[in-house]
Amino acid sequence: MIFISNHAQAKPKVLVKKALAWTIDYYKKCNAYLANPSNTNKIAKEAAEKKYQHKDIKNALISVFHHKCAYCESNIGAVDFGDIEHFAPKSIYPELCFEWDNLLLACSKCNNKPHKGVQFPLDAQGQPLLINPAREAPNEFLRFIYNPQSKIAEVEAINNNPKGVETIKIFGLNSPNRRELLKKRTTVVFQLVYIAINAAQGDSDAQSLMQKAVQATEEYAAFARQLWVQLNLSPLLQTIV
Ligand SMILES: [Zn+2]
Repeated sequence: MIFISNHAQAKPKVLVKKALAWTIDYYKKCNAYLANPSNTNKIAKEAAEKKYQHKDIKNALISVFHHKCAYCESNIGAVDFGDIEHFAPKSIYPELCFEWDNLLLACSKCNNKPHKGVQFPLDAQGQPLLINPAREAPNEFLRFIYNPQSKIAEVEAINNNPKGVETIKIFGLNSPNRRELLKKRTTVVFQLVYIAINAAQGDSDAQSLMQKAVQATEEYAAFARQLWVQLNLSPLLQTIV
């Protein structure tokens, strides 16, 4: 998981123009369905809700998240269309259904049950206990490491901070139930460890590979960035973009 610093600037024009009207219409249809839960009203409510699936919104999210899941950082383009994910669930916060700040790109595994689904834990102050990578830097809460004992690339909550702990738990970022994620991520990170060590020892090919691995476009860039810091590669390489 990496910070997506340009999310706010990527708001598609269709949302600038229509978010308010869509929200008003969605509320009307929700109220009509509450007053009379007929099949017609249900279909009308669902049609009003689905406007967030507009292709311009999806395309803007795919572009800003570089075809990667906001949470697990897996590439989703090759095997999945990716889901438009409501950070605060639309079923609990319908007023945020068309709010750009609330929209992320996620893989279907992270987005759905048994992972996020409609889970949205809050702290005692009512603030989300999940990391929103479009608003805050995940590396303030999470550490991305290769564990040589378990031979698995793992995500750790720094000092067991509650937001990090909940994020790892809800998305199953280290869960044996997400075997494919763990396997794929570990393969990439295992190679990265060797590349990073060689880069630190002055190998120019390895330095080029590291330079690429830390870019926001690359799968599991959070791990590459952590290695970059651990091995103090900054004096050798250019800055991270
Ligand atoms: Zn994911």
